[in-house]
Amino acid sequence: MPNTRFLQSAVFIIITATILTACSESVTPPVEQSSQAPVVADAGEAPVGRLDKSVVPSHYRIELRVDPRQDSFSGLTEIDVTFSEPRDQIWLHGKNLQIEEVWLSSAGAERIEATYEEKLESGVALITLADPVEPGNATLHLKYSAPFNTSTNALFKVVRGEDSYAATQFQPIAARQVFPGFDDPGFKVPFDLSLVTKADDVAITTTPEKSLETLDDGFVRRTFETTRPLPTYLLAFAIGPYDLVDIGSIPPNDIRDRPVPLRGLVARGLGERMTYALKHTAGLLTVLEEYFGTPYPYRKLDLIAVPESFGGAMENVGAITYDEGLILMDEDSSLDQRRRYTVVHAHEMSHMWFGDLVTPDWWTDIWLNESFATWMMNKAANSYWPEGEFDRRTLSGALGAMDNDSLAAAREIREPIDHNDKIMSAFDGITYRKGGGVLAMLERYIGEERFQKGIQLHMERHADGSANANDFIASVAEGSGVSEIDAAFKSFIEQPGVPLISAEVICEEGQKPRLEVSQSRYAPLGSSIDPGASQWLVPMCVSYDADGARNSTCAMLRESKQTIQLESDACPSQLHPNADGAGYYRFTMNQSWLDGLVAGSATLPASEALVLVDSLYASFLAGEANANSVVGGMATLVNHPAWDVAAAAMGNLELMSYYWDNEDLDSILPSLRNMVKPRFDQLAGADDEGSKLLRRRMQRFLIVIAKDQELRRPLAEQAAARIGLHGEADPSAVPVDEMETTLSVGVQDLGEPFFDLLLVQGLASEDPAFRDAAFGALARTEDPVLVAKLQAAVLAGNFQGNDLVGILFRQMARNATTDLTYVWLIENDKVIIEMIPEHFRSRIVPQLGGSFCSADKAVEWETFVKSRADMIPGYERDLAQATESVRLCAALKDAQGANLLAALQGYH
Ligand SMILES: [Zn+2]
Repeated sequence: MPNTRFLQSAVFIIITATILTACSESVTPPVEQSSQAPVVADAGEAPVGRLDKSVVPSHYRIELRVDPRQDSFSGLTEIDVTFSEPRDQIWLHGKNLQIEEVWLSSAGAERIEATYEEKLESGVALITLADPVEPGNATLHLKYSAPFNTSTNALFKVVRGEDSYAATQFQPIAARQVFPGFDDPGFKVPFDLSLVTKADDVAITTTPEKSLETLDDGFVRRTFETTRPLPTYLLAFAIGPYDLVDIGSIPPNDIRDRPVPLRGLVARGLGERMTYALKHTAGLLTVLEEYFGTPYPYRKLDLIAVPESFGGAMENVGAITYDEGLILMDEDSSLDQRRRYTVVHAHEMSHMWFGDLVTPDWWTDIWLNESFATWMMNKAANSYWPEGEFDRRTLSGALGAMDNDSLAAAREIREPIDHNDKIMSAFDGITYRKGGGVLAMLERYIGEERFQKGIQLHMERHADGSANANDFIASVAEGSGVSEIDAAFKSFIEQPGVPLISAEVICEEGQKPRLEVSQSRYAPLGSSIDPGASQWLVPMCVSYDADGARNSTCAMLRESKQTIQLESDACPSQLHPNADGAGYYRFTMNQSWLDGLVAGSATLPASEALVLVDSLYASFLAGEANANSVVGGMATLVNHPAWDVAAAAMGNLELMSYYWDNEDLDSILPSLRNMVKPRFDQLAGADDEGSKLLRRRMQRFLIVIAKDQELRRPLAEQAAARIGLHGEADPSAVPVDEMETTLSVGVQDLGEPFFDLLLVQGLASEDPAFRDAAFGALARTEDPVLVAKLQAAVLAGNFQGNDLVGILFRQMARNATTDLTYVWLIENDKVIIEMIPEHFRSRIVPQLGGSFCSADKAVEWETFVKSRADMIPGYERDLAQATESVRLCAALKDAQGANLLAALQGYH
């Protein structure tokens, strides 16, 4: 109904004119109808997406009474609102709230009674007033109670032993299950919050506590300082017998003249495990303050280790929440765990500026939040921990997103969100990883310092407000002084797909060498993508040997075909079409140039070698490179000096192993061992971080994938000793970095007694690292009897959040357990779906079928997921992607399976 909005505006103008006229000394006599009810604007249909701006909030006062020992909580919410037109109905958000009282007060009416009705499943509610109100200010008053959420979303409770804790996860749209309000990110207003809790419980929220009042029933009322303007999704609450760990404030520095009080909240008894995370916070925060050129924006910072996995970490203002495994550790924890903490913590803290201080005005631009934080986390981590080599993580992430981006059902980074059910689809690899890579490309093109100036200007301009992608581009262009970025940036964020650059080196007598390049959209074998239908503006740089030195030349590709002149007299002996891996694209070259690049890859910079690993494998998936060349290429690149290049090449070898069962699989294992073992042996004794990380990954590959018996043998014994299978448990029997691999060997080689004991110990453990390793190992069982036991443990509700999801994916992905898991999943679908955290259920369920490799299974899976559509609103995109992946896998196996198998078997 395109005219409705226009009609509403017209009504608004007329009414305003009437009032103005009435109040001024106009010669026009007051309009007689002014004492009658105004013409009320129609509230229209229930909004499935963004709320309109005819009623906007300006301030909230929320009091929650929360006792996590109960099954429900209660609340009082007052919202100051402004009406821009006369209304007797108000659309807002609220879900599962039992409203006891609802009314409105305004200057003209002390109390207008109202009714409240939830209209849509996604939490859209309608308030109907007994009398209409005039444009102007008013206050909504609501009294209600609500159940705790049972799937680690909204306000949920966690029972651990004798203790009950409450915590929150609001993003994207779960705040509406805790208080009624205008739950859109564009509404940023101050909140006054108070909590009524048991006197003994710790209770925290977004701002520092201002006052404490003792009530007479063993409860207290804590009142907190007014927040800065915030959207609803960034509030947080934690209540319960948490340990409160205080290692002192973050001291002032060059940028900030006040200390930032810093504390940790963690389940009772685990306080000590928070000190590592707290200790490293000041350093990371300072790096971010220096980058943004502005102090940490909020009054305090609490880090909350949520006692049950809710699926990651969340950048709530001043009260960041983490799964325990991401934050509970110490100096002796595994290198991988400490690295993960570093990047995740940097990610969440960078959101305090980018996301919290400056917020997207609608979910369409949530990608910018996540892309930026993904890019920033690696930059900050690299600056804080230089030996960690985090500088290539954004590139690796972007390359990792390219498979998903190669699907016909791929999503563009900036996909318009017009429905509540579609919001979660914006939180995917395209948003985080491709978006991070595209920002890195932009930074590279503009220059590091100038890009930083653009970011700083953006923060300054939009602090405490909202901004969209256009505002961001404008800030970067203006702050950096580089204006021509708009079209190139948009060509990457507003269309899906990976550009494929074909490069041909031309060397002719008497002429300088040149490169003929053409661009198309990358399409895997069997894809329905039309490669010629997309075009990008690609900032492209190539590197090559020129007159004995390494040179690079850059150009902006604007056409489908273009020529780049090289700055060299002689024909280069080697050329890389993506210098420093700075561009988000894949490349192909003719076979001899590609072979030359692989043969000389040991001298390529790590970033270029990473791109080569990806482009070579992608070329095979597209049906271009032959099986021998890709197998030989990966075997060569496994020996690249950079640890992450070697790991990426090995990762592709692992992918190649997934196509086979039984004898076929057995027949390639010796080759896989031969390819990786020499490099693994070289790593013995090396103690730089990269070598340690690579050694751990290669050990896992050799033992778990390539079934190296020599390496396996001692591990089963170590695993038995670690959990005390034959006597006292010995915690020192297995190095922390090798825990999961070692326990996996125990699960696979020591049978039921080991499995049973590990399950008991994993479930009972309060050490998240051990728990993760134990669950990861249990999920690697291939014995049908033990698979059934694992399934029973899942159905008994023993695993939550990421733990549960990890088990389901592992069991589905492994050939030996796929069918058993599939049958079980179908039989118990409703129960299992309900166990998956509500906020990512609609994404996880369809993806579970993504590891099949037959066209028939794609059809079956589609039918199954659709039969559960009512439980997973918004599932469509993930289902389309999962089934497309399955069909592409089947197409590749049909076309190239025999060749690949022969190439793998033939490698010596
Ligand atoms: Zn984030």
